[in-house]
Amino acid sequence: MRLLMVGTGYVGLVTGACMAEMGHYVVCLDIDKNKIARLSEGNIPIYEPGLEEIVRRNVAAGRLHFTADYEAGVQEAESCFIAVPTPEAEDGSCDLSYVLQAARMIAQSMNGYRIIVNKSTVPVGAAQLVRKTILEELAARKVSFPFDVVSNPEFLKEGSAVADCMKPDRVIIGSDSLRATTALREIYSAFTLNHDRIVVMDIPSAEMTKYAANVMLATRISLMNEFAAICEKNGANINQVRIGIGSDSRIGYQFLYAGIGYGGSCFPKDIRALQSMARELDVTTPIMDAVDSVNESQKKLLAAKIRAHFAPLGGVKGKTIGIWGLSFKPNTDDMREAPSLQLIRELLEEGAHLRLFDPVAHEKARMVLGDQERLQFCRDEYDAAESADAVALVTEWKQFRFVDFQEIQRRMEGRAFFDGRNQYKPQEMRVKGFNYYAIGIPADNPSD
Ligand code: NAD
Repeated sequence: MRLLMVGTGYVGLVTGACMAEMGHYVVCLDIDKNKIARLSEGNIPIYEPGLEEIVRRNVAAGRLHFTADYEAGVQEAESCFIAVPTPEAEDGSCDLSYVLQAARMIAQSMNGYRIIVNKSTVPVGAAQLVRKTILEELAARKVSFPFDVVSNPEFLKEGSAVADCMKPDRVIIGSDSLRATTALREIYSAFTLNHDRIVVMDIPSAEMTKYAANVMLATRISLMNEFAAICEKNGANINQVRIGIGSDSRIGYQFLYAGIGYGGSCFPKDIRALQSMARELDVTTPIMDAVDSVNESQKKLLAAKIRAHFAPLGGVKGKTIGIWGLSFKPNTDDMREAPSLQLIRELLEEGAHLRLFDPVAHEKARMVLGDQERLQFCRDEYDAAESADAVALVTEWKQFRFVDFQEIQRRMEGRAFFDGRNQYKPQEMRVKGFNYYAIGIPADNPSD
């Protein structure tokens, strides 16, 4: 089928490329002309495993195209997917302006029946607003075309987005039109050959499902972090507790890791958007309020541990600290709401010198942090440890698992190691001579 993907970011580019891989003719559109120019020259603006290959293959096959031209894009397509940002507004609610702008621009070019598919994460009621916006725009043009609006929230995870997209756990289709549902089933049929993973429901339920899923996952993380805080005081080891509870099939092992909080472009804004929706409906959300506030405190935890360690040693001022990992999670270069940013800002304010390393996120991190005097981007994790009084692991990239710690110690000035993701065995690290700090594992706990 002929598809238009409006918004060529993490979701739009990955979904567009995967749709092309499945044989559809896809045009990816973006208002960022620079991005389109880069893509047209074969430069992929984001890091996502497997993406470059799939984009190249489908461009070469003539199934994947890039444009900034709405008119051509809309007029060639049967279905127009909207995958533009839905950031947090100042009051915490979801800012729908990009989605509605995309709807308006689609309507300005419509010349017949179209299915408008909302892939962006949007609050309940957004499909109605999209419908209203399109009707207004068509009326302004003094034309009338039939169209359907469908909610099709996206569940891919950055870092494994291509794999998630090619083999989705489920495809949610919120629709009130048989014609649109049938078309969406056909579009997704190749992705669900093995067994039918398409779930059709009403539009509000589809819109709500996306928020409910993200908030459920964020809740597990914050609850584990709350357990970790208790473990640090009562002598238990959160890693052991995780294994103990994860083995219960009702609980499962996924999303049970204590750490320095969740970040990224979705969980923080989505939880606040759902809180905002609830406020408007006069519904209180004590659980979600707690999930968000636990996470905000958690992002400050590593800085607090570093501060406490250096307090008897003259404080953090003037100390050199190596930071391993900057992106909000491994296998992505996305820096949006990354916990590393909170840590970096706090340590810079206290006068530390920071040596940063991330396998792929330097360019995006530089865009956020700018050039600062006490901030240095390093070649690798060894370089980041050079002359450091301490090293802090912030993002659990695989390459940090197999590090030559003798070499790290040879390069370091001090011996403090702050593991924000519980990647190493505490006893082993202590035997190696580190002052090792983890999350939810007290120093005197005997197990690894
Ligand atoms: P992104 O910022 O990476 O990409 C959005 C793109 O849309 C940008 O390239 C931007 O230039 C473009 N854009 C903005 N307005 C436009 C317009 N009017 N017309 C054409 N292009 C326009 O965003 P993203 O991470 O891909 O997220 C998109 C949506 O998907 C959001 O609602 C997000 O919550 C949701 N989502 C994201 C993820 C994720 O992991 N990133 C996962 C699931 C759902």
